[in-house]
Amino acid sequence: MKNTSMLMSMELFIFVTHRDKMLLYYYLDSRPNEYGVLEVHDQRCKHLPNFSHRILLGMFSSSQEAILMAKKHFVSVNGCPYCCIENYRKMVKYEA
Ligand SMILES: [Zn+2]
Repeated sequence: MKNTSMLMSMELFIFVTHRDKMLLYYYLDSRPNEYGVLEVHDQRCKHLPNFSHRILLGMFSSSQEAILMAKKHFVSVNGCPYCCIENYRKMVKYEA
């Protein structure tokens, strides 16, 4: 991608490239999932929570970087199985 930034549609999707890597905004869902874990999403994810439940992590070139940032502040963090699939840890529920 040659452009340093590209504005798409009314949804204000801004794609910025840094050393040829695309940077995306990453957010943490402030609502724990069924395992008590907070999930990381990128700005394009259709599972991104609404604004009142988003915690902005920053702009990163990979979900791994975003998850590392989230883990500095929160103990239980996981990648979203849709937008962060390469950093998604499958969860298993342990029965008592
Ligand atoms: Zn997601």
